[in-house]
Amino acid sequence: MLGFDVEEFDLPIEYGKTISFNDQITISTTGTLNVLALLRKHEIKATFYCTANYALNKPDIISEIVAEGHEIASHGYYHSDFRIEHLKQSKDLLANISNTEITGYRMARMMKVDELEIKNAGYLYNSSLNPTWLPGRYNNFNKPRAYFFEKGVLQIPASVTPLIRFPLFWLTFHNISLPIITWLANSTINTDGYLNLYFHPWEFIELHGNKSLGLPSYISKNTGQVFINKVSDFIVWGKQKGYQFKKTNEFAKSIYNETT
Ligand SMILES: [Zn+2]
Repeated sequence: MLGFDVEEFDLPIEYGKTISFNDQITISTTGTLNVLALLRKHEIKATFYCTANYALNKPDIISEIVAEGHEIASHGYYHSDFRIEHLKQSKDLLANISNTEITGYRMARMMKVDELEIKNAGYLYNSSLNPTWLPGRYNNFNKPRAYFFEKGVLQIPASVTPLIRFPLFWLTFHNISLPIITWLANSTINTDGYLNLYFHPWEFIELHGNKSLGLPSYISKNTGQVFINKVSDFIVWGKQKGYQFKKTNEFAKSIYNETT
């Protein structure tokens, strides 16, 4: 499963910079179009976790994602403001704009969220857990690595390797070479039977030389065409191995069918 978090690009604000709302939306949109082209080239489907705020500003992009057969899930109402009522409000708004059923949720910045509230808002699955240790963010070493149920909601954590729990997420693709990523991915698939990876559209745009964004080098390096090529090569590797690429709601439904 490949997931893309389509949000207002507010990351520079975390690094003490200012970026206009218009630029935040434009960067995410340009990146999303690059992602769509990549998925189209490989004829695979994926999941786009969108903020309601993004969808309100770019309903045409949401329609395009749906028209190409991908899944829309919720990434909350705003990327940098959260209230419990946003869970259902973002779900309803995304359903309206996309004209699809919204069954998946991912919390902004993979922060903790009350599972009972996720259930009450009507979601079937939550993919908000990164079961590893990220200095300064969270330590989830005591949480399950592979999917599990909590308070009646299917949890689909981001994939990390067995034992040392090396995360196989977006940052890894900026900093680790592809042969090592595929080796780690293979050992994780062999253990769990699947992979759940997540990226952001802005990674698919060249941002490295853009000092005004204030991003540290380990985040901005290998963005743009280098990143597109790397994810493309990863998809080719997965296809050659005979792995299937699926939308997260399809995976979630298959788990519900097995367990009920
Ligand atoms: Zn996000």
